[in-house]
Amino acid sequence: MDLCNPKEIKALLGRHGFRFSKQMGQNFLIQPWVPRQTAEASGAGPGIGVLEIGPGIGPLTAQLAQLGEKVVSVELDRTLLPILAETMADYDNVEIVPGDILKTDIPALCREKLAGLRAVACANLPYNITTPVITALLQAGCFASVTVMIQKEVAQRICAQAGTAQYGAFTLLCQYYADCELLYDVPPSCFLPAPKVTSSVIRMTVRGKPPVEVPDETLFFQVVRAAFAQRRKTLVNALSTLLGKDVDKSTIKSLICACNLTETVRGERLSFADFAELTQKIVKLRQK
Ligand code: SAH
Repeated sequence: MDLCNPKEIKALLGRHGFRFSKQMGQNFLIQPWVPRQTAEASGAGPGIGVLEIGPGIGPLTAQLAQLGEKVVSVELDRTLLPILAETMADYDNVEIVPGDILKTDIPALCREKLAGLRAVACANLPYNITTPVITALLQAGCFASVTVMIQKEVAQRICAQAGTAQYGAFTLLCQYYADCELLYDVPPSCFLPAPKVTSSVIRMTVRGKPPVEVPDETLFFQVVRAAFAQRRKTLVNALSTLLGKDVDKSTIKSLICACNLTETVRGERLSFADFAELTQKIVKLRQK
């Protein structure tokens, strides 16, 4: 069947008594160019194993299976399983894994199901879990790239440059792990039911090493989050909250100035190098 034809989709879903769940972010693709182009962008090919999240009825799964060696696809909604058994029947390189991706040990799943293959991740993500899923995929450390469809607004935040309104803690998290590109937009009319917002496909190509050397990764991300926690706070106040009563503001001010920054600077102005230097100085301060 044509997995992107609204008439055929409705007949299939009707036959199985399926109901769309808003909570599970179910918006199914109905324009064939979208799963085709997304699968092509994902790097799926010979020798490549793909982890997909949320296959739905399987339009993207089918495209990935045609290009890649194997596709493992985690689906939360059990009512989709009998439907997928039908739509994926012709693909012997697709394995559907029932479960919640947020409760899945992703590295273990890759080791078990994609052994011997170079792994990539690809998905039209349920929008309510975009940030935790992307974080988990990047931190899993097992993917060469992560190609996902998400809300455009989040895509812009992920791919933002320092100094722009979209630049934030999540930008730095994603760009720490990967080179992030916004590939193309997908309008609401490409989905059933149509979402309220425009979507974008982004590709995150995982880096061999981080863009900056960081002395303490945990502290680095604490500093980043603190700097953006309250947008209107200056860096002095943000770091003061992070470092607590033991460190007075004049110490923090001199620490900031030692990084060649002005004390009234706001988080969105700071580059990777600035955050790395700040982290380094805080580590040294704590060693005293
Ligand atoms: N890939 C399909 C469906 C996208 S809709 C398409 O493009 O047409 C999002 C899908 O993610 C749905 O199938 C939904 O049931 C599934 N899903 C939602 N939350 C999930 C979770 N926590 N873990 C795994 N799958 C989830």
